[in-house]
Amino acid sequence: MGAEISYNELKHLSEECSIDQLTCEEEDTKHFPTKLPENINSSTKLPGTFITNESNHFAINKFIQEMEKQKNPSQSCIGNKRSYYPRLEFPVSPYPPDLKPGSDFVASILIYRPVEFKFFHAKNASEKLRFSHEIVVLGRNTLTELRDTIMCSSDFGLCKEVENTSADLKPLANARNIYPSGFIFIDNVFYNDFRDPNSIDYSFPIIEWAKEKQIKNLSSENMENVRIESLTPRFGYPYLYMHQGDCEHLFIFADARLLNSSDCLHSQFYPHVLKINRNINRMCFMCSVSFAKWIVVDSDRLPQHKVFMCTDCCNSYNYVNGEKLGSFKLYPYYEKHVVV
Ligand SMILES: [Zn+2]
Ligand SMILES: [Zn+2]
Repeated sequence: MGAEISYNELKHLSEECSIDQLTCEEEDTKHFPTKLPENINSSTKLPGTFITNESNHFAINKFIQEMEKQKNPSQSCIGNKRSYYPRLEFPVSPYPPDLKPGSDFVASILIYRPVEFKFFHAKNASEKLRFSHEIVVLGRNTLTELRDTIMCSSDFGLCKEVENTSADLKPLANARNIYPSGFIFIDNVFYNDFRDPNSIDYSFPIIEWAKEKQIKNLSSENMENVRIESLTPRFGYPYLYMHQGDCEHLFIFADARLLNSSDCLHSQFYPHVLKINRNINRMCFMCSVSFAKWIVVDSDRLPQHKVFMCTDCCNSYNYVNGEKLGSFKLYPYYEKHVVV
C-alpha cells in the first residue's frame, strides 16, 4: 500500500470508523446489553436479549440450545472452529524488520479440507467440510506464494491403486513434483500455476464445458505475479483451490486489516500458517490399535464403502496366500505424512 496518511486524514478516518457510528437513527442506545449472558456457549457470544421465544426457530438458537445440552460443548465443534487451536508463532529473525506498521495489510485465509462429493469419491477427502488451516498473507504476497503454503496430504503421496500391501510406494511419493498443476478460482477467474513446464491447464476443460452450458464470463490467467492486494474477494465467500486432478479445497478470506506494530514485521515470513486443525491419525478399522496405512474401497466383504486398515489387518482379512479375497480396491493412506 505505502500510502502516507496525514494526521487530519487519520483523525477523520478514526472518527468515521468509530463504533459510535454503528447505531441507526431512532435506535434505543440506552438499553443496549452491557453484560454477556453466561449460558451461551458460542465464540460469537450473541447477546441474550436477541434470543426470544419468537426467535427460537432460528437455526443458530437451536444450535446454541443443543450445545448447552452437551456436557462439553466446545468439543462438538472442534472440527471447524479455528479459535480452539494454538497459534503457530512466527520465527524470530536476527535481522531488522523490513515492514512498517500501516505499510501493508494482512489477510487471514481459512483453508478447508477437501470434501468427498456424493458421486465422486476422492480417496483422502473428508466426508464433512472441515477447517484445515489458517494462513496469514500480506497484500504484497502472490497467489503462487499462497499456493505453496497450502498443505495437503495429496501433495505428499499419490493415492493410486496398488495390488497389495507390499507394493513399492517410493515411485508414488512427492506427488506435487509429478503433478504440479493447480488453480485458484476467485470471482470467475481461474488462476493457473504454470511455473513448472509439466503443468497443464486444469481450467481449460471447465471453461469449454461452461461455454456449452451458456455459462459466461469465466476466464483463466497465470497465477504467478498476481498479488493478493490486486484481488477484490468477498469476505466469507467460498473460493476454490484445486490440485492433484480432483483434490478440491474450499477457502475463504476471513479477515483483513492494516499491519500493526504487534504483527510480525519481517516480510520473508509471510505467508504464514497461523493455526492448524489437529491432525488425528486414523486408527485401523479392524483392530483400533495400529494406525491406518491403507484404504480399502468398494469391498464386497466390508460394511463401508471406504475402510481404513493397518497393514497386518489388511493382509489377514483381504488376502490368502497373496491372493485377493473378493473384490476391492486398495490405496495407500498418507495422512500421517503431513507434518507441520
Ligand atoms: Zn488437496
Ligand atoms: Zn489393524
